[in-house]
Amino acid sequence: MSTPDNKVHEVLIIGSGPAGYTAAIYTARANLEPVLFQGMQPGGQLTLTTDVENFPGYPEGVTGQEMMEDLRRQAERFGTETRFEQVTAVDLSQRPFTVKTDFAEFKTKSLIVSTGATARLLGLESESRLMGRGVSACATCDGAFFKEKDVLVVGGGDSALEEATFLTRFASKVTIVHRREGLRASKIMAERARSNEKIAWELNQTIADILAGEDGKVRAVVLEDTRTGDKRELAADGVFMAIGHRPNTKVFAGALELDEVGYITVHDGTHTSVEGVFACGDVMDSKYRQAITAAGSGCAAALDCERWLEAEG
Ligand code: NAP
Repeated sequence: MSTPDNKVHEVLIIGSGPAGYTAAIYTARANLEPVLFQGMQPGGQLTLTTDVENFPGYPEGVTGQEMMEDLRRQAERFGTETRFEQVTAVDLSQRPFTVKTDFAEFKTKSLIVSTGATARLLGLESESRLMGRGVSACATCDGAFFKEKDVLVVGGGDSALEEATFLTRFASKVTIVHRREGLRASKIMAERARSNEKIAWELNQTIADILAGEDGKVRAVVLEDTRTGDKRELAADGVFMAIGHRPNTKVFAGALELDEVGYITVHDGTHTSVEGVFACGDVMDSKYRQAITAAGSGCAAALDCERWLEAEG
């Protein structure tokens, strides 16, 4: 596999969400000539949302697509090279580091990882078959398609309850399906959901299957009681998965220290277990997961990287 430019880069950035682009803006303005790999989903998770209303500086809101396009243009304006390539392997055991993509191989003195996270799914065949036909992993993106419909939200964490509450703006009824009696969500979110008259509960239940009507869209689910194993059908027009996220770290397994869930562990800001490798955004943050916090940590990673390169001479 060839190195396209036969050079050792100062910094490569993997991932094109708000963290990656912010790291690119900062490292580009520091004349480090970053190369950013966009991956399979340029713009990251934000491109799946509709309006972003909580990012400071957009009083009227902005679509996720537009915001990511603006961030890309801003990064490129200062000299970032963006490449529509997927990173398939890294070698961080020796310097310069090696980053392999589906097209070429790159050498770099430093690396910023901002590969984000992906929504978890149940793993049912019917779930992937009906994705976009009533099954969704993003209430913010798809909620408006379910006006006056009955929908289910799967999960018992803050995301599930937040999404369920959000969906009551559109749906006539939102049923939360959770596999236990107790909720994982915070008290305040639980109270808000419990006091919402449009929200119903199916506790101690999992979804064993999702059924489609003649039109090929979701019409019902098969609920399975986690205590007794009993199964029954429940009619629904939509099923929203909110069972957490999985960090996109497969390519770094064995190369970087990950926590028990797979998030990259960092110390002193954004330093990873390998000197010269920095992590930012959802790939190292399971707590806040916001565009603004991702952008903030992207800035921190760029500054940490810049200082590290300077100290290395
Ligand atoms: P989470 O806290 O990990 O909750 C995931 C939920 O999905 C849990 O209730 C879990 O059940 C359930 N679940 C997991 N795998 C399942 C499976 N295979 N089948 C059925 N159910 C399954 O994830 P999250 O809700 O996305 O929250 C992640 C983090 O973001 C948390 O720290 C949360 O506080 C934070 N967050 C905060 C806000 C906010 O403050 N506004 C909003 C959203 C998220 P069990 O409980 O039985 O494990």
